[in-house]
Amino acid sequence: MDYELIIVGGGPAGCAAAVYAARKQLKTFLVTKEWGGQSNVSEDIQNWIGTPHISGSDLADSLKTHVLSYKGDFLNIKENTLVNNVEKINEGFSVTLESGEIVTSKSLLITAGSSRRKLDAIGADRLEHKGLTYCASCDGPLFSDMDVVVIGGGNAAFETVLQLTAYCKSVTLVHRSDSFKADEITVEKVRSDSKVRIITNVETKEVLGENFVSGLKIIHKDSGEEETLEVSGIFVEIGQVSNGGFLQDTVEVDQFGKIVVDPWTQKTSVEGIWAAGDVTNVRYHQNNIAAGDAVKAIEDAYIWIKHSK
Ligand SMILES: Cc1cc2nc3c(=O)[nH]c(=O)nc-3n(C[C@H](O)[C@H](O)[C@H](O)COP(=O)(O)OP(=O)(O)OC[C@H]3O[C@@H](n4cnc5c(N)ncnc54)[C@H](O)[C@@H]3O)c2cc1C
Repeated sequence: MDYELIIVGGGPAGCAAAVYAARKQLKTFLVTKEWGGQSNVSEDIQNWIGTPHISGSDLADSLKTHVLSYKGDFLNIKENTLVNNVEKINEGFSVTLESGEIVTSKSLLITAGSSRRKLDAIGADRLEHKGLTYCASCDGPLFSDMDVVVIGGGNAAFETVLQLTAYCKSVTLVHRSDSFKADEITVEKVRSDSKVRIITNVETKEVLGENFVSGLKIIHKDSGEEETLEVSGIFVEIGQVSNGGFLQDTVEVDQFGKIVVDPWTQKTSVEGIWAAGDVTNVRYHQNNIAAGDAVKAIEDAYIWIKHSK
């Protein structure tokens, strides 16, 4: 085996794990596409413990710097690289990188996180970053004094609406059903805002616009009627998808594709594979939780690596 442990992912979970693994002198390989993870795009993170304010990119830099300070005899790192496949082999696992390179290890820690669920509507791909966006905190201010739409019905969608009402002319929330997953208190806050229109029970059919978004065509499910919302911006908040697709045939996943873990140890259904952070079926998604769960995984994996035959 090339390594005792391979860590997949360089977000808060993967970085925390790498620091702990290196300090325990486990022969470790960390492979990640990017550093810092999802909150990289945040302008101001205010709940990373010990740091009252930090931008997402500064957090990414500090995580990377911390991990790189342990690069050496025990920790090897490969960045800008995806893991494409994982296979069980006799004494461990073989991991195939997107370059085709194969690396083997006795154990794995999967911290590949999650990504935004993409809008399935005509024109959505073509107009992404041209008025259609998945990040209100990054792009919201560009739509000052404009009419915009938010698609979704969970907390992320409602919080996005509240954020946008501060500077957009109007915000229309469209949702596919007539009930919301968001907290009642947030829903009420949005409902009472005079700038907001809420449209439920609709399908999003088409994103309109030649070079830039000019509207959204929706279909009212009850009547079958089509309506065009004339807007300049579309903010999509329809949930997350797991980045763990490359091992879905290897470990047990839930109905959303999230890796099922034992919360006591972060073990997956396969002996020798641990997972932590947003790639797992953990209930809450936060940087501190991802980092903490990854530390828990390393504590558990260390004992297994050193004491199993
Ligand atoms: C816009 C936004 C703002 C947020 N703000 C906050 C906040 O203020 N406070 C807070 O606590 N939480 C915040 N969160 C949530 C927080 O970012 C996540 O809970 C956290 O990033 C999860 O960390 P993770 O390490 O599990 O996964 P991720 O952050 O998703 O990191 C996964 C890592 O794995 C890499 N990767 C993915 N697939 C592969 C692969 N196949 N091969 C190799 N590498 C791979 C990625 O490049 C990435 O580096 C925010 C999330 C978003 C989207």
